[in-house]
Amino acid sequence: MLTFNNRTALVTGAGRGIGRAIAETLAKNGVSLLCVSKNPASCGAVADAINAAGGRAVAKAVDVADPAAVKQAAAELLSQAGKIDILVNNAGITRDGLIGRMDDADWNDVIRTNLTSAFLWTREIAWPMCRNRWGRVINITSVTGLVGNAGQANYAAAKAGMIGLTKATAKEFARRNVTVNAIAPGFIGTDMTAVLSDDVKQAATQFIPMRRFGTPEDIAAAAAFLASEQAAYITGQVLAIDGGMAM
Ligand code: NAP
Repeated sequence: MLTFNNRTALVTGAGRGIGRAIAETLAKNGVSLLCVSKNPASCGAVADAINAAGGRAVAKAVDVADPAAVKQAAAELLSQAGKIDILVNNAGITRDGLIGRMDDADWNDVIRTNLTSAFLWTREIAWPMCRNRWGRVINITSVTGLVGNAGQANYAAAKAGMIGLTKATAKEFARRNVTVNAIAPGFIGTDMTAVLSDDVKQAATQFIPMRRFGTPEDIAAAAAFLASEQAAYITGQVLAIDGGMAM
């Protein structure tokens, strides 16, 4: 049984896939949710589903790649909620291509959405956690950030950057009782991987010792643990959840 003492969590990319599963799992554990995603219909539907199931959630549409929008939304959500105890930096995109053919926009969009957004939310939300002497930051990186992947130089750089951000902020915040950890999923069945052809999915499965893609709930279970009281002495870690792929 995980313990949460009247905690509030902000999850980015909560509209679908892994973020939605994390938001719903935390809500089932009694955590109040601030569900952020780009499309209002997407985060709105998740907040509605959580409230209909007896939880507490509000939705906020924010483009996490826009620094001014993140700053304004963070201030609004902090004042609305009073405090935010748990931050899950999960929003992410892919714009794959071999580096010789990768244009500046594909590089910048992925770095801004996946990496700079985590810096922005951490600065605006996690810094106030330090004043409260309690907090949890969970950054959703990828095994690609650990081992690289041909055709994903932008994504691998962003995800490896998130690991550096995790370790640096873990050290900065440790004395304030704020932990910062990263989860590195392998192949997970979401909209992000639904676009892969059957041939690519079959080839990818051959590299997974467990011979299957993971589920968003596999990631959510670990995120809930890292956000709980029970994970108080774990910080600066990267937990690969990948069916054994990156061991
Ligand atoms: P997904 O199903 O494509 O969902 C992505 C979520 O991010 C959506 O809710 C989307 O918002 C939100 N988002 C994207 N760009 C945004 C922006 N500019 N501003 C605000 N929100 C934005 O992806 P997923 O598979 O669940 O992935 C979640 C995270 O896990 C990502 O960081 C991804 O890199 C990482 N990951 C995934 C896998 C995998 O195999 N699926 C593996 C390793 C790591 P809307 O719903 O409003 O569109």
